[in-house]
Amino acid sequence: MKQGLQKGKVIFAGAGPGDPELLTVKAARFLQEADVIITDRLVSDAVLESYARKDALILHAGKQRGKEGTTPQQVINELLVLYALEGKLVLRLKGGDPTIFSNILDELISLRNHQIEYEIIPGVTAATGAAAYAGIPLTARNLANGLRILTLHRPDVIDEKNWQDLATTNDTLVFYMSGINLDILMEKLVEYGVSGEKYISVIEQATTPMQKVTTGPILDFAVERKGTDWISPTLVVIGKVASLQEQFQWLPQHESGQSYFNPLEEIRKKVERA
Ligand code: SAH
Repeated sequence: MKQGLQKGKVIFAGAGPGDPELLTVKAARFLQEADVIITDRLVSDAVLESYARKDALILHAGKQRGKEGTTPQQVINELLVLYALEGKLVLRLKGGDPTIFSNILDELISLRNHQIEYEIIPGVTAATGAAAYAGIPLTARNLANGLRILTLHRPDVIDEKNWQDLATTNDTLVFYMSGINLDILMEKLVEYGVSGEKYISVIEQATTPMQKVTTGPILDFAVERKGTDWISPTLVVIGKVASLQEQFQWLPQHESGQSYFNPLEEIRKKVERA
């Protein structure tokens, strides 16, 4: 650090799942104040266009499973530290809530190692955002005992006992990052005796103008929807509560198959232009 230079600060905030109006007032305030904003692929352009300070430096740190153009975590950690040590107010804006299925821990450790101050501001996570915009009360009385936030990012780490539990629980199950593993999930739940009373809703691009919800009884869905190529990002809700979706759907369905969020290649081009 240069002599006499005040250390800056890093604000972790959530941008919500897509609809820019799902941002907290506090996150919107920091978007207007921050000198540097480091975002994720799942932070929509609409959020930045609506709230970011016009002269802020915006860096797109895209990440997507198995996709080229992914920004290594180490680089993101270093950028946070670098700008904070220059005395900047840095906003680390993540999709949804900044603590749910994100690499915030790595980033916190880096900041702590450099004694950089930070704040963490919660956001609307995909589970609650997608469920609300699809018309699913996640813990409806008599239909669910509770709610579990899960991922099938690595199906190999789930053992037999876990599968049995997932197939038979009365909790609502919400799976993040699981669109491409959905066939495995269906297969396993059926194998472990999931009840025919349970439904599944797959919510693509939730809370955006391109939201599409596909719902059905889980046993039919497992057969009829096998091999579907779901549009990222996709959230999966399983439980009796998903049977309410068609009844309480309020947002119009979008059928074009277009992507709302920028693909990583686009993000990379933007970064190169910047
Ligand atoms: N921190 C984020 C989650 C990041 S992991 C949050 O709290 O929501 C990325 C996963 O989140 C995606 O694979 C998808 O499962 C889910 N997700 C995020 N935004 C979504 C959206 N608009 N629609 C559906 N799923 C979404």
